[in-house]
Amino acid sequence: MTDHTNADTLRTPIVAVLGHVDHGKTSLLDKIRGSAVSEGEAGAITQHIGATDIPLDTISGMAGELIDPTDFDLPGLLFIDTPGHHSFSTLRARGGALADIAVLVVDVNDGFQPQTEEAIDILRRTGTPFVVAANKVDTTPGWNPQAGQPIQRSLEAQSERAESMLNENLYEIIGQLSDAGFSADLYWRVQDFQKNIGVVPLSAITGEGVPDLLTVLMGLSQRFMKEEMAIDVFGAGEGTVLEVKDERGFGATIDTVVYDGVVRNGDRIVVGGQEDPIDTEIRALLQPRPLEEIRTEKQFEKVAEVGAAAGVKIAAPDLDRAMAGAPVRVVRDRPVEEVVEEVKAELAEIEVETAENGVVVKADTLGSLEAMANALREAEVPILRAEVGDIAPRDIAVAETANQDEHKAILGFNVDLLTNAETELENADVKLFTNDVIYQLIEDYETYVEEKQRAQQETVLDKVVRPARFRILPDHTFRQNDPAVVGVEVISGTLQNNRNVGLFEGNEFERVGQLSGIQKQGDDVDEARAGERVSIAIDGPTVGRGIEEGDTLWTELPEKHAKILEQELKEEITADEREALAAYLETKRKRDPFWGK
Ligand code: GDP
Repeated sequence: MTDHTNADTLRTPIVAVLGHVDHGKTSLLDKIRGSAVSEGEAGAITQHIGATDIPLDTISGMAGELIDPTDFDLPGLLFIDTPGHHSFSTLRARGGALADIAVLVVDVNDGFQPQTEEAIDILRRTGTPFVVAANKVDTTPGWNPQAGQPIQRSLEAQSERAESMLNENLYEIIGQLSDAGFSADLYWRVQDFQKNIGVVPLSAITGEGVPDLLTVLMGLSQRFMKEEMAIDVFGAGEGTVLEVKDERGFGATIDTVVYDGVVRNGDRIVVGGQEDPIDTEIRALLQPRPLEEIRTEKQFEKVAEVGAAAGVKIAAPDLDRAMAGAPVRVVRDRPVEEVVEEVKAELAEIEVETAENGVVVKADTLGSLEAMANALREAEVPILRAEVGDIAPRDIAVAETANQDEHKAILGFNVDLLTNAETELENADVKLFTNDVIYQLIEDYETYVEEKQRAQQETVLDKVVRPARFRILPDHTFRQNDPAVVGVEVISGTLQNNRNVGLFEGNEFERVGQLSGIQKQGDDVDEARAGERVSIAIDGPTVGRGIEEGDTLWTELPEKHAKILEQELKEEITADEREALAAYLETKRKRDPFWGK
């Protein structure tokens, strides 16, 4: 038993960057890292696996006049290197978001875009505090760039015209935030950051405004997250799998963000797996080599331990079935069963509800799988199976078992089709949808279903017998029989060739024969529409016996067709066809009220 009481210390807050594609997330992270490095001092930043640690000293060097480092006792900021909300939602920790704070990047010229809205939804749902980086201020016409300066300094150097153009864009974004339910203002006007979102105008290219962003992030963390940052540095490490990767010489490894306690080489750990939790022992803890040593052959160096917050690569047996987004727990001072149960409970929280029938869903991480499941539930699309991982032959086989055609589909979020599944897919009657934007993925699927249903209705419509009521015109008998040829006027509906026709004797339908030709002004046609006068050939009757001039005749509707017409295709057929159908049904139902129901 360790005897480390009162070992609490403050850990680095974990920062994630989100925003619409091309709004500048990557550039912003690069700028922050680059500016930190060019601060010069050794140890300006520490590259972790999947994250960059920027210590308070470096931040205060960059922020200059904006920060008094003595105001802070948090050690710095840990930026997650992979921007975007799918990695953000991956990063779960004890049911919440792993990132303590987020930067929402919005292009000042573009304003809110679909992925901005999506990011906002995720931030709202996870209750993650965030600031808005209103990026690309340097693209304002007439801008006079002030590299690396605080934004106020930069604004002082701008023409009135440039400043007012920028302001217009900034207020647009503030308005959009308010439409999304967040009261926001330019960060220097915000009094209470718990009630208002701060907007920081900046440029990820020139670096102006970046000092302000770091200052706001530091201030927010210090003020509102200090308690959560207090951790037991000697406690059993807790983390989240960021990615599962094969690494030469190590086999399957997990890139892990450790957010609590300490992880040591040789520790027994429990990791969330695709089936049961994986109980294993750490063979190596790996971190990137410092920049100076990058020439050496090996990319990683082994370390003895890492404390929160940190990104580290863990090598251990059996990690190939680990899942991105799953919990990692060090087993220390308690039975392994207890830890396994804990990991199971946490995974159960994310378990996706599945149905007897539905689509197959694959996603890159647990968090994104959860987000997909939520979105599909809202869209009322049932899920047959949902799993983390690339699309494998097995998934195609499963999708093919769906009862309904529209469910023979795989929706893949941010995953690849495995090479050995390609031919399988070609030969299967399964439709694959992949995208790295959830709403787009679902929209694509919905469009596909709609089109499929429309096509199905069209084929049914093609096959179904159309209703028609028509009258034999007086003095229009061209031939008595074999076949009878008469002139008719279609009263309502569509008279189709080859249909059985008949008439009502009271409420009883009597078939008189079958159409064997329709001629319109001497030409053979397949059908005649309401209002048209045509001559028709009927096999069966003799004019003067079975039928008379002036008789009203009907196309005979098989009961099944009448039912489909009335229940499914009512909107698809024309008004006069509906009229003919209604009149036909009315007479039929006088004898049998349930006919065609
Ligand atoms: P991401 O998709 O959100 O990661 O966006 P990127 O960082 O890849 O940026 C998209 C494009 O916008 C790139 O061509 C960047 O050079 C450009 N860009 C990003 N930030 C700025 C900025 O502040 N000013 C200007 N002028 N261009 C920017």
